[in-house]
Parts: sequence; structure tokens; C-alpha cells
Amino acid sequence: MSDKKADTIEIPAIITVKEFAEKLDKPASEVIKVLLQNGFIANINQTLDFETASLIAMEFDYKTELEKIKESDVNIIAPEQLAEILKQEKESGENLKERPPIVTILGHVDHGKTTLLDTIRKAKVAEGESGGITQHITSYQVKINDRLITFIDTPGHEAFSQMRSRGAGIADIAILIVAADDGVKPQTKEVIKNLKKGEVPVIVAINKIDKEDANPEMVKNQLAEAGLLLEGRGGDIPFVEISAKNNLNIDNLLETVLLSADILELKADFQRRALGIILESHLDQRKGAVATAIIKTGSLNEGDYIIAGNAVGTVRQILDYNDKRIIKAEPASPVVIIGLDKVTKAGSVLQVEESRSAVKAKTKRSNLDSHYLDTEKKADVRKIEGESEEQQVKIPKLNIILKADVEGSVEAINQILSSIPQDEIILNILQSKVGNITENDIQLAKTSNAIVYGFKTMAPDKIKKTAEKNKVKIKIFDIIYKLVEDIKEELSNLLEPEIIRVDLGKLKVLKVFRTEKNKMIVGGRVTSGKVTKNAFFEILRNKELLGEGKVVQLKHLEENVSEVKSGSECGITYAPKEKKSFVRIEENDILKFYLEEAKKRKIE
Ligand code: GDP
Repeated sequence: MSDKKADTIEIPAIITVKEFAEKLDKPASEVIKVLLQNGFIANINQTLDFETASLIAMEFDYKTELEKIKESDVNIIAPEQLAEILKQEKESGENLKERPPIVTILGHVDHGKTTLLDTIRKAKVAEGESGGITQHITSYQVKINDRLITFIDTPGHEAFSQMRSRGAGIADIAILIVAADDGVKPQTKEVIKNLKKGEVPVIVAINKIDKEDANPEMVKNQLAEAGLLLEGRGGDIPFVEISAKNNLNIDNLLETVLLSADILELKADFQRRALGIILESHLDQRKGAVATAIIKTGSLNEGDYIIAGNAVGTVRQILDYNDKRIIKAEPASPVVIIGLDKVTKAGSVLQVEESRSAVKAKTKRSNLDSHYLDTEKKADVRKIEGESEEQQVKIPKLNIILKADVEGSVEAINQILSSIPQDEIILNILQSKVGNITENDIQLAKTSNAIVYGFKTMAPDKIKKTAEKNKVKIKIFDIIYKLVEDIKEELSNLLEPEIIRVDLGKLKVLKVFRTEKNKMIVGGRVTSGKVTKNAFFEILRNKELLGEGKVVQLKHLEENVSEVKSGSECGITYAPKEKKSFVRIEENDILKFYLEEAKKRKIE
């Protein structure tokens, strides 16, 4: 053992617990235990980032180094690796052709993001062409001076901040919209922070200048305070004053986007196999898994063999932003892809492989996402946890299965749930997936004693009946907040209650009537408060605490009573509070009575 001390192991940016345990040469159960002791709840298939893995490796006396990426070793490309590949492509300068800029609009709620997207779409996408895209992320392309611009939208809900910041990462240019009558708000600042991290060029759109109380100067000053220096104000960030509602200066804004794109010299290799990013993915009753993606480089063709996160397939259909079927999608185009075998995670990389066998070979690795564990593996994990961890026995655990309408919801809910403190209680998410509640979910819930939660999804009547028969709870919500509250309530129910002591009164012992093994009958006078049957009491002699007892029977004038008040005399049959701690009561002892009330505790 000691010769292993401070050895260095190389680990990748993301590693599964299983692979990590192999590197450490330790059983997975031991690694899971140490993870738990450090506040990470994981199973063997879950992935750890480098930072977490390094921390845990230290516990096993290992140092860590980040594994270098060798292109040939990359099986399933992580988003960070995609960024690296794109950088290398740009530097190589080979086969590159100009591509449209990918633009996202960000800003505080109500500052006009949706209105601007709508106005641009209406003004620039030819009338009647627009198909019924019902995806949760609207993305489209417009043509200005014969050049294309791609706009992508990410959901605006508070809980999607993770995706919003990812939206900034996907885009080449971000339009930061600030209402001229409202100014810089917390969300504006958050966006600025995220944009700076991702180093995405920004164009500021000062919106609502048609309003009487519009004050663009105030906005410019506030932006400067927040660290964004506009052109003509000591900085180089372009800005346009617009009215999204009245279609004022929108052309100007779009031209500014093209200028910024020129500076960035956005290029891509149109010939290579496509690489893209999944923006959203959901299950369609008729079409199966449907994914919205943005192509970052290369061209996607019908019939291509693809991998996207944990899903694989052959591209059966490509639809453009107008819902029109196309056979080829070029760099920077937003597309809907039909043909993946399952719903995949937003943010995963879409990659094309040369053959079905290449897809097979590459996906053999087990580093698939934890959300999509199959049930067999999960059963294993539970066994490991149960066998080796005494802690598991002590910490109560709530198992849940989560089904939601779209991947964005799954992410948002998981993000919120991950912030629930788990030091006293474990929230074990067995599965979180997109889709309706199925027979399989009920079976898994039954064997693992889990609750099935649905978000904006449904359980067919047949499934509901099966659940009822198997005593499986199904709970469906359409507001994230309510769903999370309910899970917290279920967790709270598992918490040991808080014991609150309520003082009742005192009694002076006047006589000892009878002493048996572990039991006595004594008589005395209540000197303050009251004595009740089932109360506990402290036994004090000369102010010294000797032990504790509980009232087994309470009598007043030979009659059984439930309560005796101050001033009255009574007889008490007493037993020790804890077994094996019997104290003989003597005359003149003082008994101090109290009740213990259990108060339900709540997870906040
Ligand atoms: P989002 O939350 O950022 O997507 O904001 P919305 O696009 O939903 O806009 C919020 C409100 O501001 C809506 O009532 C819009 O009609 C209004 N609004 C958006 N742009 C303008 C504008 O340029 N002028 C005025 N007067 N109102 C606007």
C-alpha cells in the first residue's frame, strides 16, 4: 500500500465512478463510500468531473493529472472537446468556407427578447413559409444582403439559467437586450458575467426606445458600471437603439451583427462529417425521438450514422427551421433530426460516424449519462450501497423516478434537486428521463420502493391501475416549483422528528409505598404546575440529577387519573425512562415532570 502513496494517475475531464475506481484499483463500493463521505451521492455509472475526482483521489493518496486528449481516442465527444476540435479546424485553415454567424438574444425578463426574435422572424422570414415548429427552442435563419444569420433561442424561465449560459457558449455572437425604461437588472448582470466567461462578442440592443420614459443614456452608464464599455464611451462594444415592438432600427441591428461576424471570420469545413450541438430533444408519439440541433461544422446528410450523447441512430429525416424536409444541412443551420433511438441530453455533441460499426465501436464505452441508466445496472448499485455502507442504514433515502416533457425540464428539475441538502437524507434519483410514465417505471418503482414523479407528462389509465395495484405512488405536476416542494415534503417525512421538551411541573416525594425490580410506587404532593400520566420526569436529590423515569400509572385518592394539579397529592407508579437505569426514589426527592413532543422537521 505504502509504495502507492502519492502516485499520480491520469484521468480525463469526465470519468465514470466505475472507471475511476479501476484507475484507483479500488472496489467501486469503496469509492462510492468515500464520495458519500465527501458529500457526493453517486452510483457506479455516474460521471465525475476532474475536480471532484481529484479531491476523492487525494483521499486514496493519489495525485491526479488531466489526461491529454488524443483525437483518435475520442469516442463520444464532450462539449469541451468540441470547442477544441473547432479551434484546431480554424487554425488549420484547410477547406474552410465562410459560414453564417450563430446569434443568441439574452437579457432580463420582459426586456423584449421574445418580441425581438418574433419581429426579426416576421420581417425577414418570407410570409407563409413558416411551418409549425413546436419545439421548445425556436431557432431560425434570416437573409440580410444575401447573407444568412442564424438565431437560436433558449428557454427564458429562471430555472434554465444553466442552459442560458450554455446558449451563450453555443453562439458566436450574443445580443444583450436591455430595456431603455428599466435599465440594467440582476439578470442582465448575470448574462454579462456568463458572456465574459465564454468570451462571446456582445452587441447591445437598447430596446423600447419608443417609450416615453426611455432613457438610453442611463442604460449606457449602467452598462459601463457593470463592466461593458460601449463604442464612443471608452469601449468597443457596438450598440443599437431599437424598438423591437415597432420594428425600429432592426435592420441596423442585423447589419451590426454581420459586421461583427466579419471581424470574427467565421468559417467551417462544409465537406467534413457534421459536428453539432443538441439544443433540445423530446419524444414525439409518431416520429419517436426528435432532436433540435445546431450544426457547428461539416454537413449533415440524410442517412448519416450519428451519435448524440447517449443516443445513436441513422438520420431518417432532417427538417429545416421552416419544418421543410431537406437532405443536407450545412454549418450554422438549425435543424430538427429524426432518427435517434432515444431522447438525448441538451448540450450533448452531435457527431457523425462513417459507418454503423463505427457507431457501435465508439458507444461501447460505459461513460453514458447517469440520467439514462438502465434498471439492471441500478439494481446492482443499490446492492453495493446496501452491502458495504453502514451509513446507508442510518441515512434515510427517498428513491424517485422522474419523467418530464422535454430534456430542458429534466435538466432544470435535476439542477434544483441537486441543491437540496443531503447530509441527513438522501434523494436518490433512480432515473430522470423524457417521456410518459410507463410500465417499466412502475416496475422499477415497485422493486425500489420509489415514487414516480411526472412533470408535464402523463400516465395512461392502464399504467395508473398497475401502479395502484402495486402500491406505487404516481405524482404529476405542471409547475416545477410545486413538484420540488412535494419532493421536499416527502423527504421531510423521512426525517427523524425534532424532540421538544415541554416542562409540566414539580412534585415532592412524601412516601415510598412499594419497590419492585425496575418499578416503584411513590406518593407525593404536586408543588407547581401539574403531573400527567405518560409524562417523563427527572429525579433530583439535593438538587443533584440522579436519573430519569416515566409515569406508568397516576392515581389520586385511589382512582386512576390523567392529570393532577399543583396543591394536590397523588400516587405514581414509575419505571425508568431508559432500560437498565433504574434509580430508587427516596422520600423528599423532587421529581420534575416534562413531556417530549415530536416536532416534524422540514427540508428547506
Ligand atoms: P422577454 O421576457 O424578454 O421575452 O420580453 P417580451 O418580448 O415578452 O416583452 C415584454 C413586454 O415588453 C411585452 O409586453 C412586449 O410587448 C413589450 N415590449 C417589447 N419590446 C418593446 C418595445 O420595443 N417597445 C415597447 N413599448 N414595448 C416592448
